Amino acid sequence: MAELSLPFDRWHYPVKKFYDLYDSSIEEPEDFWAEQARQLDWFRTWDRVLEWEAPFARWFVGGTLNACHICVDRHAKTWRRSKVAIYWEGEPGDVRVLSYSTLYREVNRYASVLKNCGVGTGDKVALYLPMIPELPIFMLACARIGAIHTVVFSGFSARALADRINDVGARLLVTADGGFRRGKILPLKSIADEALTMCPSVEKAIVVKRADNSVTLNPPKESWLHDLLEEADPYVEPELVESNHPLYVLYTSGTTGKPKGIVHSTGGYLVHNYVTYKWVFDIREESVYWCTADIGWVTGHSQIVYAPLAHGAATVIYEGAPDYPAIDRWWDIIEKYGVTIFYTSPTAIRTFMGHGEEMLKKHDLSTLELLGSVGESINPEAWLWFYRHIGGERCPIVDTWWQTETGGIMISPTPGIECLPLKPGSAGLAVPGVEVDVVDEAGKPAPREQRGSLVIKRPWPGMLLGIHGDPERYKKAYWSQVPGYYYTGDYAVKDGDGYFWVLGRSDEVLKVAGHRIGTAELEDAAVSHPQVAEAAVVGKTDPVKGESIVIFARLQEGIRPSADQTKSLTSHIRSVVGAVAVPDEVCFVPRLPKTRSGKVLRRVLKAVANDDSIGDVTTLEDESSVQEVIQAYQELKEGKGPGAQKNYAKGKPKKEKR
Ligand code: AMP
Repeated sequence: MAELSLPFDRWHYPVKKFYDLYDSSIEEPEDFWAEQARQLDWFRTWDRVLEWEAPFARWFVGGTLNACHICVDRHAKTWRRSKVAIYWEGEPGDVRVLSYSTLYREVNRYASVLKNCGVGTGDKVALYLPMIPELPIFMLACARIGAIHTVVFSGFSARALADRINDVGARLLVTADGGFRRGKILPLKSIADEALTMCPSVEKAIVVKRADNSVTLNPPKESWLHDLLEEADPYVEPELVESNHPLYVLYTSGTTGKPKGIVHSTGGYLVHNYVTYKWVFDIREESVYWCTADIGWVTGHSQIVYAPLAHGAATVIYEGAPDYPAIDRWWDIIEKYGVTIFYTSPTAIRTFMGHGEEMLKKHDLSTLELLGSVGESINPEAWLWFYRHIGGERCPIVDTWWQTETGGIMISPTPGIECLPLKPGSAGLAVPGVEVDVVDEAGKPAPREQRGSLVIKRPWPGMLLGIHGDPERYKKAYWSQVPGYYYTGDYAVKDGDGYFWVLGRSDEVLKVAGHRIGTAELEDAAVSHPQVAEAAVVGKTDPVKGESIVIFARLQEGIRPSADQTKSLTSHIRSVVGAVAVPDEVCFVPRLPKTRSGKVLRRVLKAVANDDSIGDVTTLEDESSVQEVIQAYQELKEGKGPGAQKNYAKGKPKKEKR
């Protein structure tokens, strides 16, 4: 796709401004990052910019700061005290607007609640909450006292919540009675109750009253937040932590069944997010910024909470579903709050594309100035639709590539520095201070326009400190594939202009509607069903969600495939992992195709599900297993035999998309 010459007058700067900055950042990276870091408030300046004991990086060593001070206190002490920090809208339509001074008051009171519950510096606090203001307030309150938060996405099940709490060793859990989603109440407290039966480390639980559904609290271990707030002090001194004190642990999927607890620092993480936010979104004092991600994912951590608030920006948070009560809910929100920067996912854009432009006509989107996309590759067609119909052909689109592990944006257009030509479908160039490349199997730079592995060639400030409790896994997952380089797990192409085109994952990780889901995690969940003997999970290309989940499963001897089996396996996966991981298709097979050494050849299953050519199967123990899989999958699609189950669990069969 050719580059687009766009009329972005506002972003015209002296040509080469970007390249000059980029080149200097790569020539003298430590000087460059030190200069960026000086934009934040430090209570003690660092002794060393970078300590690199490969593969462990420590940034701004010896410097002390406090993330809550940076995101709240320093604004509340200036004219920004009356500026809006958070515009929040609940799904039922209730609204809360928090100024920086209100946020300051609240984080202090919440920090006092945490302290009164016995939480101190270095303690872990699990947050299992809907998208309500209490979630960012608790995150900031943890940071204020030096506690480390672990936010667990509210779409995860009791088992998944318990696994994360146990791995991190949380002493306290904060949850809510419920949260609103598509008009229904998500019973968070009862899910948390089930999780807590498996979590010996949790001494105390705090419950936020949100949905007013009936729940039972077990005192003294469990308390309502509003009761605890009555005893709270109005001020808690921010704990000054060393730059590499962990700010949070966030779990993400990897190639084994066990999720990885990604640990982020305070100083490096904030510096990275502070500067990239300015470069990428060109944030201005008057901006109204909305990132539609859930705070349960890294995008929400960095792009709803830490980066906007560190800038003293106004950030919009919406609790509910995009299409509730009607398909134009998001456009209504943009109009209502005068959103100027809108950051969302390709899946959301493609979903809206499918509904046509009529829904947009009712809304004035003229406040929008800049658009962003994250989480998966955006296809040029969706990019252009976004550009034309949402951005009115006047807003640049920043396609931002990054990961939970990178902490902040790594590849993206940077209108805040200079708006270089945009290419729909490409994330563009690496941001200053970040060096990425595409390499072949031998670790050598891949020729331009040829697919290879995307790697990061040197440490960056937002880089993870490690995997919680597992340094060996950290080394193996990221530093063993390409010697000397961080391995992202993505395939990419670098074009003739040096622009990166990210093609998707090269490992056993799926990206379903932008959510990262490990096939191994799903397979472990599937085989924990008493009637499933073996299972293999693959991704199938989906025109809206990017990928959908297909499970191939062999049942225990004597159990016959049936629609009931599909339903039972689907609801089992929902209860083990959560709604986020519910399979789109379940195909029961008599055998899984395996190599002579007994390894399931997922490549074959993926080809069957995607209607691709099967390729070489000579390594298979028995090639006839492929025919069996093809036949079973065909029957599934035609609705014959066990195939009548397709999408059963979702209530209605979907139309075939391909
Ligand atoms: P997560 O850690 O859940 O944010 O997922 C990170 C993964 O999402 C990356 O490794 C990519 O596979 C994918 N991803 C994120 N942003 C983009 C993007 N702008 N273009 C293509 N893929 C992306």
